[in-house]
Amino acid sequence: MALTGLDGRSVQVEAQLSSALPSLIVSGLPDAACRQAPERVRAACASAGSPLPAKKIVVNLSPASVPKSGTGFDLGIAVAILAAGSVVGQEHCADVVHLGELGLDGSVRGVPGILPAIRYAASAGFAHAIVPLTNGAEAGIVEGIRIHPVRHLDDVIGAYRDFGPPQRWPAPLSVLPPPVITRSVGDLADIAGQHEARLAVELAASGGHHLLLSGPPGAGKTMLAERVVGILPRLTPDAAIEVLSIRSLRGDTQDDGSLDLTPPFIAPHHGSSLAAMVGGGSPVIRPGAVSAAHCGVLFLDEAPEFRSDVLQSLRQPLESGEVVIARARERVTFPARFQLILAANPCPCGFGSGKALRCSCTPQRRRLYAARLRGPLLDRVDLQVHVSAVTQARAIGTHGEASRVVADRVASARGAAVARWGGHGWARNADVPGPVLRIGEFALPKAVTAALDLALETGRLTLRGYDRTLRLAWTHADLAGRGRPTAEDVGVALMLRTNDREAVA
Ligand SMILES: [Zn+2]
Repeated sequence: MALTGLDGRSVQVEAQLSSALPSLIVSGLPDAACRQAPERVRAACASAGSPLPAKKIVVNLSPASVPKSGTGFDLGIAVAILAAGSVVGQEHCADVVHLGELGLDGSVRGVPGILPAIRYAASAGFAHAIVPLTNGAEAGIVEGIRIHPVRHLDDVIGAYRDFGPPQRWPAPLSVLPPPVITRSVGDLADIAGQHEARLAVELAASGGHHLLLSGPPGAGKTMLAERVVGILPRLTPDAAIEVLSIRSLRGDTQDDGSLDLTPPFIAPHHGSSLAAMVGGGSPVIRPGAVSAAHCGVLFLDEAPEFRSDVLQSLRQPLESGEVVIARARERVTFPARFQLILAANPCPCGFGSGKALRCSCTPQRRRLYAARLRGPLLDRVDLQVHVSAVTQARAIGTHGEASRVVADRVASARGAAVARWGGHGWARNADVPGPVLRIGEFALPKAVTAALDLALETGRLTLRGYDRTLRLAWTHADLAGRGRPTAEDVGVALMLRTNDREAVA
């Protein structure tokens, strides 16, 4: 299996032996890691007690047009050569997927991307796959294909020799469906007070709105952000497999074979490189943080501290829900539909909110700091609220409403949005184009939008800001169980939308 992004292609491994000077050549566009396969295969076969014959060995990976990268072809190459030498039966291994890197000692080692590769293999009709033991649980999540996890090349040779085709092999890994789990995340009950910030978090989860939390260090911005995944709807099994496939490509799957229905929460460091954020790397292109956060939350703490090219790189995924990485030889697309949560201090020193008596920043530094988030990125953030440290201190000893209760309201608000927009192809209020909210069937009466119209006329809001406020008003109405926003819903939305001037500037 070769992967381009999450898309798979099957690769046929052919081997031919001829009586010329002993050599081993692999052709068919392999990359550097793949080109070193001969040394690993030769040593591994010797370690497994089946040394390669002293002949000229030609291995071809086809189709040649499919880029092949990484070390996962080692096992297939070894089995093809052993089949050509009649060590294993050709008819037994021809239609079997072989994935795994070979160690010089013959061990079969794990490789990234097993889950998407196996998913593709199953959809392409392959019935059996041999994978490294360490990737066995991950591969076992896919239905419709039998997985044979192996530890050593010896296991593979022995099974083919003793039992023939894989359908006769004993003890498949597991025929049970994978255990479904939800990860434990912090509860909103831990956060007392913070009425406005809690409302913002609830609105963000309900309508799919991106969110900026600004406030001094220690105000609890990170705590709030982390709790958003606890009130978002659980992932569907399909979405959970997609999320796990991305983790598999990033090489960070846990080996317990469970399917986590909790939306991911990804918090890259502000020193992150462009490749770490959107994906990249060589020779194999790996998904970045934006894809790891697919179907979940991407949290940028101290957002103004991120490199500006890294912040700007978020525009493409925010716009299209995917990220495209183009190289000379290939073009890879990864899904990246995430909810963005930004956290920012009011100024570089962190004490610049309110009367800012302790702030040591010059006005110019404060302006530059605020300007880093402004523009196209912040324009996509519907919700911008200030989180104050004072409220939290005052509220010690009391508890906030629990995530479980909030999650129920979020679920019914989302249900209302789906019922309204579903027929038009949108699922969340944040996805609805502005003109739809202003003109026609869903336009609100003048009396309801009066405050908003005034803000637009006086230049306090741009037209884009106007549309964002309308979306937010719909979400506020959905949470309250109202069929349509009232002037009050618009007022709350306008407040949450416009107090950013103070918060960030
Ligand atoms: Zn300051």
